[in-house]
Formats: sequence, structure tokens, C-alpha cells
Amino acid sequence: MKKFTYLVPKNLDEAVSLHESYGERAKYIAGGTDVLVKVKEGKLKPDYLISLKQILKQDKPYMNPETGELFIGAFVTHRKIEKSSIVQLKYPVLHDAVKNIGSVQIRNVATIGGNLVNAVPSADGAIPLITLDGRAHIYGTKGDRYVDLLRFFLGPGQCDLDRGEILTEIVIPPLALRTGSAYVKHGRREAMELPMLGVGVLLSLKEDMTTCAKARICLGVAAPTPLRCFAAEKYLVGKTVDENTLAEAGKLAGEESRVRDSIRGLAWYRREMVGVLVKRMGLKALHRATQ
Ligand SMILES: Cc1cc2nc3c(=O)[nH]c(=O)nc-3n(C[C@H](O)[C@H](O)[C@H](O)COP(=O)(O)OP(=O)(O)OC[C@H]3O[C@@H](n4cnc5c(N)ncnc54)[C@H](O)[C@@H]3O)c2cc1C
Repeated sequence: MKKFTYLVPKNLDEAVSLHESYGERAKYIAGGTDVLVKVKEGKLKPDYLISLKQILKQDKPYMNPETGELFIGAFVTHRKIEKSSIVQLKYPVLHDAVKNIGSVQIRNVATIGGNLVNAVPSADGAIPLITLDGRAHIYGTKGDRYVDLLRFFLGPGQCDLDRGEILTEIVIPPLALRTGSAYVKHGRREAMELPMLGVGVLLSLKEDMTTCAKARICLGVAAPTPLRCFAAEKYLVGKTVDENTLAEAGKLAGEESRVRDSIRGLAWYRREMVGVLVKRMGLKALHRATQ
């Protein structure tokens, strides 16, 4: 393995300025579960690894009681998110996703920020956070900015970060009343393998508890970047949510998906599974919304 110098900046400005000094020779590292594997395999050969994890000591997801927004620091580990009672209670789509990432050992060190910046089509963190309309807070030499997570992903391994910019936080807007959500990773096994599909569904109901007020359907591994199924979402709004309407939404989502034949499954099968899983996650979200 190529030798590198490990740098531990004290704050964001120092991290950004170190990155500016070393340019292409430097790479940020948070939990290291992606970076160190690539360094070990020789796919990455940085001279400097700039550690981010200790800069912001955000311990766990935090809800602002006045605005109802949820803040998740980029350096929060999957395990901290999985153990968060607010996530378990109000954001089950996120809980469903993080509890199956890798193993407990991986979740104890891997961060949600690293998962998003890595930007692989199979990243489990991206789909639930897009389903929740999350925004990314980004910091760099030119100051800070926000970007909707849906627009953050530009292609496999590519995201909307300029050189040296740091993803610092994810902000989730307040949830409407009567909202339920669910996520499933579909593969031969639930953990420790690359999935064939990831499906996240969020439903908000009107006061009658049956009519759909808002729908979010987001797919992973169904296109080069996370894919919102706008036609399926539009179809559901204003309709009674039940097995039939969710089956139709699933069919539309399958048509919107851009699945391809791959080693993990043929396109026709994956398209069928989009339909099955959208319906299944829709029913789970409906159940959770009415509890
Ligand atoms: C055995 C194993 C199993 C896994 N299973 C899964 C799984 O089931 N699902 C899944 O989605 N992933 C899985 N992963 C992938 C990985 O664990 C996750 O993507 C993890 O969340 C990455 O976070 P990290 O903190 O370790 O990132 P790092 O490896 O530290 O960094 C990843 C990338 O992001 C950059 N980076 C990190 N944080 C920031 C930031 N805040 N701002 C700017 N750039 C940043 C780094 O420079 C690097 O390019 C697995 C990995 C392993 C080794």
C-alpha cells in the first residue's frame, strides 16, 4: 500500500486550506471505509489524507423543535443514525436504509457524508434522504451553499462538489402530519452485498386518512444516479391509497426506471421488481402513516 501523510485539521477552514495547498495530491477522509479500500487496492494514490471526522463533533441527528427541521451532520455514523430515537420514530425510511448498511463494524465508522459523496448508484443513504426532500449544506473556499440532494448526484462516482468543498450537513424539512415512509434494499441478501435495487416511498395523507396528499418515490440502482419517479408520484396524489393504486404507481415507476441488464439481474426482472417493491413499500408507508 502506498504511504501517505495523515493530516488532522482543527476546523473546516484549515481542512479546506490544506486541500487547496495540496490539490490533486490530497483526499478527504471521514470513516475511511471507501477511501482506505481504494488506497489499499491501488485505485487511489493520495500523498495526503485530510481527516474530517473530528472537525464537527455532531453526535447524532438533531431536530429543531421550533422549525421541525432535522439536521444530520455529514460526519455522523450510520450506527448513530440507526440508534437515533427520532429517526426510528419519524423517519423510518432512513432507519430502514441505514440499519442494513454493511455490518455493525462498518456502520460504527462509516459516515452518511462519505456515503453521499462517494455517489455510487447503490449508496443506501441517498434514496431515503431524497425521499425526504433533503438538502446538502456544502462549505468551501467560496463560502457555503445548499443543494437539493436530488441534484447533488451527477453520475456514478460524481457529485456536485467543487474541488476542496466539504459536505457538512443534511437538512430535512418538517414532515407533514399523517406521513409514513419505508425503504427496501433488494438483493440476494439484505446486507454485505451490492443490491439489485433500492426503493424508498413516502406518503402523506389527507385528514380522511386515505387520500394521498403527497408522494415521493425514489429508486436506487435503477439509473446512473438516484431516480425520482415523478409520473408515479403525480398519479398517486389525490387518489385513495390502496393496493390497486399502489400497484399502478409501481407499474408507472417501472416504466420510468432506466434499469439495464447487469450481473445482478436482467432489466425486465428489475423493472418488474420496481413495481412489486414500490407497491410493497407503499403499503408499509401507508400502514406507518395511519398508526
Ligand atoms: C464491507 C463493506 C460493506 C459496505 N456496505 C455498504 C452498504 O451496504 N451500503 C452502502 O451504501 N455502502 C456500503 N459500503 C460503503 C461505505 O461503507 C459507505 O459508502 C460509507 O458510508 C462511506 O463513508 P465513510 O465515512 O467511510 O467515507 P470515506 O471512505 O471516508 O470517504 C468516501 C468518499 O467521500 C469523501 N468524503 C467523505 N466525507 C466527506 C465530506 N463530508 N465532504 C466531502 N467529501 C467527503 C472522501 O474523500 C471519499 O472520496 C460498504 C463498505 C464496506 C467496506
